[in-house]
Amino acid sequence: MAFGDNVRAVRGMNDLLPSQTARWQRVETVLREVAGRYGYQEIRTPVIERSDLFYRSIGEQTDIVEKEMYTFTDNNGDSLTLRPEATASCVRAGNEHGLLHNQTQRFWYTGPMFRHERPQKGRYRQFHQFGVEALGWPGPDIDAEIIILGERLWRTLGISSVNLEINTLGSASARAGFRDALRDYLAAHVDALDGDSQRRLQRNPLRILDSKDEGTQAVLVGAPDLMSFLNDTELAEFSRLQGLLTAAKINFKVNSRLVRGLDYYTGVVFEWVTDQLGAQSAVCAGGRYDTLVEQLGGTPTPAAGFACGLERLIDLVALSEVDLPSARAEVFLVLVAAGAEEFGVSYGEQLRDAGLDVLSNCGQGSLKKQMRRADASGAEVAVIVGDDERSQGTVSIKPLRSQGPQLSVPAHALVEEVQKILANDSH
Ligand code: ATP
Ligand code: MG
Repeated sequence: MAFGDNVRAVRGMNDLLPSQTARWQRVETVLREVAGRYGYQEIRTPVIERSDLFYRSIGEQTDIVEKEMYTFTDNNGDSLTLRPEATASCVRAGNEHGLLHNQTQRFWYTGPMFRHERPQKGRYRQFHQFGVEALGWPGPDIDAEIIILGERLWRTLGISSVNLEINTLGSASARAGFRDALRDYLAAHVDALDGDSQRRLQRNPLRILDSKDEGTQAVLVGAPDLMSFLNDTELAEFSRLQGLLTAAKINFKVNSRLVRGLDYYTGVVFEWVTDQLGAQSAVCAGGRYDTLVEQLGGTPTPAAGFACGLERLIDLVALSEVDLPSARAEVFLVLVAAGAEEFGVSYGEQLRDAGLDVLSNCGQGSLKKQMRRADASGAEVAVIVGDDERSQGTVSIKPLRSQGPQLSVPAHALVEEVQKILANDSH
């Protein structure tokens, strides 16, 4: 790097500036509160895991493992990976701490995930997910619960533009029958498939349903339908889920081409999609993963969960919301006398003890300059400590957003007087 060049953030990894974090915090509060209302508890796992965890869970022949993982060798020669998603970590932690043995668990998590994709709107290399994992229940009641929880999230956030699509991948044997039929069909159209799909044709043809290539999608229009491979029990389970969603007044569409980009899914899968974000239409995706716990060394445990992309969710929130004013303090401390900073510290703490947000003038300056800063800060009142106030044991309070007069009050009455003015102003 040449001298004078600025160091920039890594491509596809974003800073969230103070003008954005207010909205993020508001959304995060809703996520936490809604998850809590259904009995989900937070779990926090490391951002880095052993690479094996992802090979064994997400699957070797998936976009994520083949092309998107940030994998490196540490100084001990261990292969480690920045997590591309958190379900595998939740299961690993559950197994490792004995939380899944003869027990049920409702977890939620949020945090950064890493995938080396082509950055574009709604698709980044560091992005954030909120997710829930329900371990120990075979469904479909719990499947309905996490879908209903998701719907409450969107409703609480004021988003109405997401639609639910559901599907079931059936049992292993249903999938095997379907896989063979699909492979035979696609093999007859192999020249029209994209390269990735051609490569996956023999080992993992189901993944081709998830292809974003238009030519491949055109071939898929005539492909066999998974539904016709499901047995009666599987169809009954799927229709029970639909009954539960209907009882909760949740609209959905059955999309029999919906598969997920990770190998660990079994049974019910679903996606919340929107037409408001251009190409990046999936806001939240999930389903059952009944074999993953065992695959990662635990006792067989049925499970279901979803992961929601926070950048996309927050873009949707922004579309339906007027801009929030940036956080403003209630009081600005104007400190002009020599030694006024000492009073400022003491008054500032008294006001904050009373629950008020206080900005203190730092860096000195004339009365005029400090009053200008007070105005620009958006604060409701200025509390002024000058020479007169110091010698008389008083403070001056000047309303900045209303026409009231400047008051001079004894220092001990400061908090009470400020509160009075703020209460009047808010009427
Ligand atoms: P897509 O088809 O958009 O690549 P995906 O199937 O890879 O999504 P999942 O692994 O199911 O996505 O992750 C769940 C959610 O996380 C997605 O629905 C999306 O909202 C979000 N997400 C996934 N990858 C990214 C990314 N690179 N940048 C931003 N959000 C993402
Ligand atoms: Mg993807």
